[in-house]
Amino acid sequence: MSDRRESNDSFRRAVRDWLQEHCPMSMRTDMPEHEIVWGGRKQKWFSRDAKVWLERMAERGWTVPHWPKAYGGAGLDAREVKILNEEMQRINARLPLQSFGMWMLGPALLEFASEEQKRHYLPQIARGEVRWCQGYSEPSNGSDLAGLQTTAKDCGDHFLVNGAKIWTSYADQSDWIFCLVRTDTEVPKQEGISFLLFDMESDGVSASPIPLISGASPFCQVFFDNVKVPKSQLVGKLNEGWTIAKRLLQHERQMVSVIKGNTPLARSTKLRLEKLAQHYAGDGQQINDPILRAKICHHKIDGLAFKLTMNRNLEESRTGRGDGNAASLIKYYNSELNKRKFDLLREVMGTGMLGWNGEGFSAEEIDTTRQWLRSRANSIEGGTSEVQLNVIAKRILGLPD
Ligand SMILES: Cc1cc2nc3c(=O)[nH]c(=O)nc-3n(C[C@H](O)[C@H](O)[C@H](O)COP(=O)(O)OP(=O)(O)OC[C@H]3O[C@@H](n4cnc5c(N)ncnc54)[C@H](O)[C@@H]3O)c2cc1C
Repeated sequence: MSDRRESNDSFRRAVRDWLQEHCPMSMRTDMPEHEIVWGGRKQKWFSRDAKVWLERMAERGWTVPHWPKAYGGAGLDAREVKILNEEMQRINARLPLQSFGMWMLGPALLEFASEEQKRHYLPQIARGEVRWCQGYSEPSNGSDLAGLQTTAKDCGDHFLVNGAKIWTSYADQSDWIFCLVRTDTEVPKQEGISFLLFDMESDGVSASPIPLISGASPFCQVFFDNVKVPKSQLVGKLNEGWTIAKRLLQHERQMVSVIKGNTPLARSTKLRLEKLAQHYAGDGQQINDPILRAKICHHKIDGLAFKLTMNRNLEESRTGRGDGNAASLIKYYNSELNKRKFDLLREVMGTGMLGWNGEGFSAEEIDTTRQWLRSRANSIEGGTSEVQLNVIAKRILGLPD
């Protein structure tokens, strides 16, 4: 026991010293959303420090510290990853890189890809060289994902992909896509799906942005017109992509909650809820309305309980004890909690939260309105809340189909 404590302490000291020496001061500040580093060929560097910080962390394997060293990680165990996270949070160090590759595709490749694919794709993700997007949803198949209709025809040494995907986040800014395609139409729908990787610059791929109600345009409709994909870019076996797809969704649901809950944006709106309530519904210090006070208190307690549950679940999945279905529970609760937070903010700010642009509203009011509108998508992206409730009912509670 004391050996373990000693090794924890010495690891913590080494991490602390390294961060002290190598994390640029400008990377120890809260990160506005537009400064998030997503990596890839189209990355626009807003500062030299951000690039240096990514390079230093990637060289050490600390962008994906729990991945094996051979694939760009540092091979740290769950306890060491926790220490690294704590030490980064202690100095408010920014995440050097965020990406669908790290959160979703990477973990799926670690489980299902061939050795050659792992050695090729994973280090690129870890170093932030390639940005990935997710080609799952289609115009007629979102919740009923297994019914997808984009086809990949076997043409000897390659597939020919035809069809369309929709709501593909950042498709216009991504380099590669992980894409679900139908490779057999004669079998039950789940048994005819394959998991393909291909370059968004391949001939026949086009992406058109779709604007959101919040004013931003983070996603696209993507079209595939006779796109040639080498067979070496199939992950897993032909027609066995559904298993990979489902596992990837579990990673998505879990990580989206973890990442979203820990962004400076999320942290700052949590802090702002109280501050704004003091400002808009009080004397700057005290919130006048006892009912509003109680609601905010209730929300904070729910948030704390959720955080503890999430930490426990993360620990379980890192140590291989979870079965992955809890990701639906986490995704569901986090989405609804975030939406409730913005409903409370609306109650607090009243007409202050009707600002869209112009001079009648402060920048913070306009930003909060847009974030509130964006939060409506939380219970749709990554699978709707209704779909998560179905998974919870069937897989966790064991209720009949
Ligand atoms: C911000 C954002 C980003 C996204 N990014 C991506 C991305 O990068 N890649 C990607 O592939 N997709 C992405 N999506 C798409 C998302 O996964 C789908 O929107 C989602 O799965 C729902 O599918 P749908 O929109 O077709 O709705 P539908 O499936 O048509 O659902 C419509 C309504 O019916 C309900 N419903 C459907 N089936 C059931 C059922 N069996 N039981 C109960 N209720 C049901 C749903 O809950 C919903 O309320 C994104 C979506 C958003 C909002």
